[in-house]
Amino acid sequence: MDNDIEKRWWVFPRFKIELMVSGLDLPVNLAFVPNPTDEPHEPLLYVTELYGKVKAITNDWKVHTYAENLLNYKANHEFPGTGESGVTGICVEPQTGDLFITMLYEENGEPKNKLIRTKSKNGLKIDSTETLLDNIPSIKAAHQIQAVTVGFDGKLYVNLGEGMVHPEVAQDDNELRGKVLRMNLDGSIPEDNPDPDSLVYAKGFRNPFGATWRKSDKSLYISDNGPAYDDRIAKVEAGKNYGWPQSMRENSLFWWHFTHGPTALAFMQNDEFPFDFEDELFVALFGGSYVKGESIKGKKIIKMKLNDDATSVKSYDEFVRYIGESAASPCGLAFGPGGLYFTDLHGEENGLARASSGNIYRVTSIIKGEGEIIVPYTKSNADKCLCPGCPTLNECMRNRNQRLFCAGGKTECELERKGCLCGECPIESEYGLTEFYYCDEGAAKK
Ligand code: SF4
Ligand code: SF4
Repeated sequence: MDNDIEKRWWVFPRFKIELMVSGLDLPVNLAFVPNPTDEPHEPLLYVTELYGKVKAITNDWKVHTYAENLLNYKANHEFPGTGESGVTGICVEPQTGDLFITMLYEENGEPKNKLIRTKSKNGLKIDSTETLLDNIPSIKAAHQIQAVTVGFDGKLYVNLGEGMVHPEVAQDDNELRGKVLRMNLDGSIPEDNPDPDSLVYAKGFRNPFGATWRKSDKSLYISDNGPAYDDRIAKVEAGKNYGWPQSMRENSLFWWHFTHGPTALAFMQNDEFPFDFEDELFVALFGGSYVKGESIKGKKIIKMKLNDDATSVKSYDEFVRYIGESAASPCGLAFGPGGLYFTDLHGEENGLARASSGNIYRVTSIIKGEGEIIVPYTKSNADKCLCPGCPTLNECMRNRNQRLFCAGGKTECELERKGCLCGECPIESEYGLTEFYYCDEGAAKK
């Protein structure tokens, strides 16, 4: 039981946060099994641990060591610095349950990037490993091989940082660094790649940590970390140039002027939250490396609604923010059963950056099932709500697709009362409501 959790984490109104797993060794990214069983001892998700392990977490929330000793060098725990690299990206192949994992390795003392595919009979312990990609130079401080995802087209997409020392490689078509790569699941080049002789799918990236797929347009979205400015989010399209090292804004849909360290990202697209959060993009902002306490730069999760053609952002809100005193910060992030899950790389460790204090948290909606609320928070009730035509509903509320306040509670937007249509609404008569201005006063209660 974690009684102090609300003293360490602020969460968006009408949500709660729970600690699901603790004692992890620098947990980086999460990957849920696409179609998990109900069996308590079967895998639900996997998490990479930076210094060479992958843990499997079963439906009963027990932690198993799936793989260890994945690094062939000794990590040095330097944050910020050369301790920030290792085993990072992970995803589950939907048909076989195999894992794709990205990491660094050393050859003749030189760090290099590698992508492997692993197999396991029971999903809890690795049986075999196949290397799909290797021998790509890197450095240990950052900008290494990062996210790996399986797209809606069944191909594998890999984010590869430019390695920091020679940023110009991001524009060199003969180099894999600074690119998003596209490959078949065995590592070969798909015939329909922009260049059928190359793995390169798009170029001009600096340090693209995160990647996720959006159902509504079947597209890949990534986060990319800028130098001291212009961290960005971009929709990745075949053959496009994203500008680095000349620009971090080219073909981007959003950028932060001051660096926040965007890491993992995910769309709410499988009903994990109430309907009005549908298709919102959630992004973990890691912030400065090993910064203690609350920070204006990062250490939070934000959510954003994209405009219709995904070229800019309609709304932007903080969703989770660290308010404690330690180096804790969100890093990996993924939607899973009942909510949004994120890794906290360092946890509440207050001394040197070291292992075994990392966590996984879950954020869940508390709108659904709240016993005292009279009106169910459902899409069909929202469709009857008159709020969208009300003079009080302002741009802030409209951009967040807010309505049905009698069920969902009051808005976090500032508002001016300009009249209320609740008295004419079919929901009012259906549920016997008697009040007005639920957007300002909160939900109707028994
Ligand atoms: S609750 Fe009433 S005042 Fe608020 S937006 Fe809806 S109709 Fe308008
Ligand atoms: S009573 Fe008001 S808030 Fe509730 S559904 Fe009707 S218009 Fe919307």
